[in-house]
Amino acid sequence: MQYQTELTIAKEALRKAAQLTSAVQKKLLEKDVLEKEDRSPVTVADFGSQAIVNFVLANNFPNDFMIAEEGSEELRKPENEKLFQHLQSEVQKIVPLSGEAILKSIDHGRSADPKSLSRFWTLDPIDGTKGFLRGDHYAIALALIEEGKVRAAALACPNMTAPNGEKGLLCLASENQKTVFTSLFNDSPNVEAKEALNKNFADAVICESVESGHTSHSRAEKIRDALAVKAEPYRIDSQCKYAAVALGMADIYLRLPKSLEYKEKIWDHAAGFLIVERAGGTVTDTLGRKVDFSTPPLLENDLGIVASRSLDHSKLIEAVKASE
Ligand code: AMP
Ligand code: MG
Repeated sequence: MQYQTELTIAKEALRKAAQLTSAVQKKLLEKDVLEKEDRSPVTVADFGSQAIVNFVLANNFPNDFMIAEEGSEELRKPENEKLFQHLQSEVQKIVPLSGEAILKSIDHGRSADPKSLSRFWTLDPIDGTKGFLRGDHYAIALALIEEGKVRAAALACPNMTAPNGEKGLLCLASENQKTVFTSLFNDSPNVEAKEALNKNFADAVICESVESGHTSHSRAEKIRDALAVKAEPYRIDSQCKYAAVALGMADIYLRLPKSLEYKEKIWDHAAGFLIVERAGGTVTDTLGRKVDFSTPPLLENDLGIVASRSLDHSKLIEAVKASE
């Protein structure tokens, strides 16, 4: 099946990266309050995750391009030597890369002209850094885009629960494969997304960012009132929101822009988008337009995000539009 190899490799890449990120988050949580102010663990997790994912992808798809959140420039500065040492020690526990090879891997597949690429991967090595630092949810999000369409996606949610009850959820989907869920850290059978059944808005659960700077909580409240939604909002960081909708833990994901100028980043949505769509859901922007992935690294033709499953999406968009 097309994109099967890509998904197998993406799974391997995310599993390895998540070993590093969860080890770093665990150590961070063991530290005392004062040390928690230090943002360097999330930086190590960010760069380390990207180095590992790119290492695995480069070994298997050496000619593919990558549009990822991080670049190695900062790490090359002398004042960041200590951080770089810490990064090396964490990465080398997982993959055999020298210091210079780590820097090269972070930049692997970079292109000077992202818009010219017909096929590329996009990666958020740690999506939801604020959640990561709080000890909450975060995601590692990887997607393959060809001709402006998301073709395959892998989404690791290390603090969510897999279908077998273990901590660590991995979601996989492709253009020709329905969304499946499995355990991130151990082999367990894939579980297909449940059928999307019709639901009333009153019984729906809306998920949104924890961070009020990333979405308008007050506008979401207006939408909840208009649709007579009973449940309190489910606030969770990162693309774990898309995983929650695909799993049926939530029915709606609202990302309501705080400013008309903000453009969403492609790596913040590509993987989650396909995970929800291939689980039978619908993902548009706040005006009900199809999400356009052909303008990397930003979603230039897009205003926020509205994802839903098991509900009338056009009715939801009407309420979203009316809440402006
Ligand atoms: P979340 O965990 O859903 O709140 O989203 C985390 C993502 O929000 C990060 O990866 C950022 O790229 C993105 N972000 C940063 N600033 C903004 C903003 N002003 N509006 C929307 N998203 C933002
Ligand atoms: Mg992000």
